Amino acid sequence: MTSTATLIDIGVNFHSKQLTGLAAELIERAKSANVGAILATGTSLESSRSELALAHQHSGYIFSTAGVHPHSADGWTTAIREDLLTILADPACVAVGETGLDYNRNFSTPANQRRAFAAQLEMAADVRKPLFLHCRDAFDDFYAMVKEAVAAGAHGVVHCFTGSQDEAMAFAELGLDIGVTGWVTDLSRGQALREAVEFIPIERLHLETDAPYLGPKNAKKRRPYNEPANLVWVARAVAELRGMDEHAVIQACTSNSVRLFRLPWLT
Ligand SMILES: [Zn+2]
Repeated sequence: MTSTATLIDIGVNFHSKQLTGLAAELIERAKSANVGAILATGTSLESSRSELALAHQHSGYIFSTAGVHPHSADGWTTAIREDLLTILADPACVAVGETGLDYNRNFSTPANQRRAFAAQLEMAADVRKPLFLHCRDAFDDFYAMVKEAVAAGAHGVVHCFTGSQDEAMAFAELGLDIGVTGWVTDLSRGQALREAVEFIPIERLHLETDAPYLGPKNAKKRRPYNEPANLVWVARAVAELRGMDEHAVIQACTSNSVRLFRLPWLT
């Protein structure tokens, strides 16, 4: 039952309160669970800096992203933009984001979210790095904005996709990749995603834990937080729902992540 294919976790929030001080043990357990590389998610200027520092400490294993999450979009300034561009010039920082729109609770106003998102879409074009995208309850505005960016040459992944079959197919047709988390193991609120997951083209699929959030419900051992070592449970659920071999799913997703984020090939 143990998987030996190498996984890549494209979303881990090491900067979150729940994971503070745990990076070393999380990485150790991730390695024993066949996770061959991790993308550490920057969601603010501060966390984009700390995730890059972690990537430097674990060079070749951890890579980072740099951006401002829609929750924090009210604080967007041109000074932040300049500082993010400095971080993005570093080869260990492989994507622009987390950025996007989240109208679920509107921690920042929708207008400010669109402003910060538009600026980051432009940055991705400037630095020629892929986007790490977040979209929640904002499909129409989000789709219109990314469509324009894609037409101008942008590419990226809609991380923690939780939408419907129609939304998955719309993103895939646009040429965007799609990241799936432990949401897919949630039999109540994950139902739409469970039905949509087989319609995501395999060459566009990525696996992520979004740790410490969204612990896979099918995991045998559970800690109070989710961690990259649990990624295989997401792979397993995806494989079951698609009627595919688990190794084949992992191999495809790993190769997609290596391609999208231009990671060094895993040995
Ligand atoms: Zn997100």
